[in-house]
Amino acid sequence: MNRKYRKTVIAGNWKMNKTPSETKEFMAQLKTIMPKGRWCDIALCVPAVCIPAAVRAMRETRVGIGAENCNANASGAYTGEIATNMLVDAGCKYVIIGHSERRAMGETDADVNAKVLAALEAGLTPIMCCGESLEQREAGITDEWIAMQIKLGLQGVAEDKIRKVIIAYEPIWAIGTGRTATPEQAEEVCENIRTVVRKLYSSKHARAISILYGGSMNEKNAFELLAQPDIDGGLIGGASLVPEKFVKIIEAANQPTV
Ligand code: PEP
Repeated sequence: MNRKYRKTVIAGNWKMNKTPSETKEFMAQLKTIMPKGRWCDIALCVPAVCIPAAVRAMRETRVGIGAENCNANASGAYTGEIATNMLVDAGCKYVIIGHSERRAMGETDADVNAKVLAALEAGLTPIMCCGESLEQREAGITDEWIAMQIKLGLQGVAEDKIRKVIIAYEPIWAIGTGRTATPEQAEEVCENIRTVVRKLYSSKHARAISILYGGSMNEKNAFELLAQPDIDGGLIGGASLVPEKFVKIIEAANQPTV
């Protein structure tokens, strides 16, 4: 982390877990144990039907609510889809885009790019995910793969908008597997992502962008991962479903930074 130049962000991704009633319970518990210090931004991205309950519960708090996906179109015949302006109107601040679980359902880099642009246009903060498979890592093409995802995902993002984008590096082999990247492995890729942003924009922009790590981050390994200079926070799946674990990760972000 580097709080001098950029924000630390701890974000939860609930995936397809919890009902609206369970959301209400979770938020009530979270509020009772939420740290008072403001060393990081906190986001919880929840299933669409849970957004109203989450927004209502966290209205007077510093927790920003987010969605787990959006549609890039403004409106129209897209049954089952949700537009970015709908998310804004529902009280969302964030939206996860290009999670590997959605890419596995057919989402392409072009889709990711269109969604990032739509989210920015609507005033949402996109959390744009990238990550390599185990086969790609073992073939030694992680850097090239990630650089390609970042370049395609950010196409057309204007200089004055790039600071608003959060990038989440999530190696597919580490998501939901309990197999975390080592702090060194995660740092190496996050540093490379910053280099790609530097080449696309400038040193100033690269220094200002928050890059998160995701993939089995939990209350035990968070401190070490977050101690890396280019890891500015976490995108947390499983451990964000338990208030005590999520809070421990938020507390792990309260450490000295460069
Ligand atoms: C995720 O879903 O983005 C994620 C990182 O999941 P987990 O923390 O459970 O590996």
